[in-house]
Amino acid sequence: MVAIVTGGARGIGAATARRLAADGMAVAVIDLDEAGCRTTVDAIKEAGGSAIGVGADVSDADAVAAAVERVVAELGTPAVLVNNAGVIRDNLLFKMTDSDWDTVMSVHLRGAFLMTRAVQAHMVEAKYGRIVNLSSTSALGNRGQANYAAAKAGLQGFTKTLAIELGPFGITANAVAPGFIVTEMTQATAERMGVDFEAFQAARAKETPVRRPGYPADIAHTISFLASEGAGFVTGQVIYVAGGPRG
Ligand code: NAP
Repeated sequence: MVAIVTGGARGIGAATARRLAADGMAVAVIDLDEAGCRTTVDAIKEAGGSAIGVGADVSDADAVAAAVERVVAELGTPAVLVNNAGVIRDNLLFKMTDSDWDTVMSVHLRGAFLMTRAVQAHMVEAKYGRIVNLSSTSALGNRGQANYAAAKAGLQGFTKTLAIELGPFGITANAVAPGFIVTEMTQATAERMGVDFEAFQAARAKETPVRRPGYPADIAHTISFLASEGAGFVTGQVIYVAGGPRG
């Protein structure tokens, strides 16, 4: 089985790519820069798995079409698509620029749309597919993230619609909505706020029922379940993976 993971160079995407490879899938790791995918691809190969790195900006229609074509040619028909690539451009609304808004919408929403449209053609033909989109607890509203919250809530509506349209073809679509996860993205947030990252993690752990921060492997584990063949009756769902109840 072939899986595509976008934004797989680091963080949640890298952990997910490694996990799906450990589950026995050949993984196409897509990220902005092909060289940036090397660490993930090498880790998969060292563990005995199979992977390729593909450079593509998911918000660029031509780049997406070329990337998906390459995956099909080199690995075969994709059975799993994980739309994980993401960026943040946090700011309070009155300071948020047009570009802060457009960049976040482009990568999360347009990126997931372009990737899914390109990949579903192959999944429909194969009458099988598992699509997982990365939402966030920020979809419920988060100060300083009007753009990101809107995009992550938008992905939930996108996911539910995919489930309805693609279900008849054996394709499921679900969203995973992580809470606070230790990655370079949250490290950048701590830096921007002028807070030590360790202290930031400790503060977030304290307000989380399971009393710890989340790690990329926590999200990869949930995605592994949704990407499995046995999860074929689970579709159109949003699973909050946040160390406590949400939603
Ligand atoms: P991350 O460490 O910043 O990794 C994101 C990856 O996506 C990077 O490798 C980045 O590449 C890549 N990327 C960005 N724009 C791209 C584009 N246009 N095309 C292709 N790749 C692109 O983020 P993360 O924390 O692992 O987050 C992964 C996903 O989970 C995101 O969708 C994020 O919104 C979501 N999420 C994260 C958290 C959290 O607490 N960390 C919580 C909820 C949801 P470059 O390095 O080249 O920029």
